[in-house]
Amino acid sequence: MSGGEEQGSEGEGMRIDPARAKVLVENLQHVTQRVDAVRGSRKVRLIAVSKLKPASDILSLHHHPSHPHHDFGENYTDELTTKSSLLPPTIRWHMIGGLQTNKCKPLAETVPNLFSVSSVDTAKKADALEKGRKALVEKRGEEVGEKRLRVLVQVNTSGEESKSGVEPNETTSLCKHIIDKCPHLRLGGLMTIGAIARSKESSSPDALNEDFVTLRETRDRVAGELGVEKESLELSMGMSSDFEAAITQGSDEVRVGTTIFGERPAKKDAKIQ
Ligand SMILES: *Cc1c(COP(=O)(O)O)cnc(C)c1O
Repeated sequence: MSGGEEQGSEGEGMRIDPARAKVLVENLQHVTQRVDAVRGSRKVRLIAVSKLKPASDILSLHHHPSHPHHDFGENYTDELTTKSSLLPPTIRWHMIGGLQTNKCKPLAETVPNLFSVSSVDTAKKADALEKGRKALVEKRGEEVGEKRLRVLVQVNTSGEESKSGVEPNETTSLCKHIIDKCPHLRLGGLMTIGAIARSKESSSPDALNEDFVTLRETRDRVAGELGVEKESLELSMGMSSDFEAAITQGSDEVRVGTTIFGERPAKKDAKIQ
């Protein structure tokens, strides 16, 4: 970063609009209450999906004095990398969007506080993330142990051609590849986006959603085939329109954007800093 920049990597000098910060904090609190109302005694991770929203929005939620939020999700590798360079290293970044194989290694290598990549759907992408995280760990002279990068395998639960993700019956082999061939990665579980139409239908907490059922059944089967406990593989499912239903159906992690940050601008109009 050039010397004339005001913004440091801790977000110092970043302008926060107090009125905007207040709205964001209230929105997040409201979502947290809705999560708490359905999760029972289970732990559910809430990822605030900040794609196409300014870095100052993220800082407003991360620097909250009593309830700092840590988990933020982004869809574009370049945007995630830029924001991570402007914001505190205490943020846990989640790459949740479609991955390009050639961007996987640089992402894992340049963002030390990248906590998770939720959208792995080929062995090539897993291998590239493995290379990137290995390079990072070696550069810093660290032990692999705690620095393993969490990855989720994205499953195409809706069967739609246009959706990325592996087929349910190919999931075990990709999971095996990650476990056997990628020592710098940690298989955290499975993720689905699901069909938009179904998520609209399932906005009541009790409505059964076929994508959620499929992801859960796939997880149970994969765990059996891998010989691990079901609970060791988390389920990442549920967004603004259906996160309560997802939690009721076993989700361990929800990804909520619009309900916290409001409608997103078109990508070409987005101002991220
Ligand atoms: C954008 C996005 C979300 C958040 O969607 P909202 O409907 O705004 O909550 C969740 N997951 C993925 C993979 C996304 O791309």
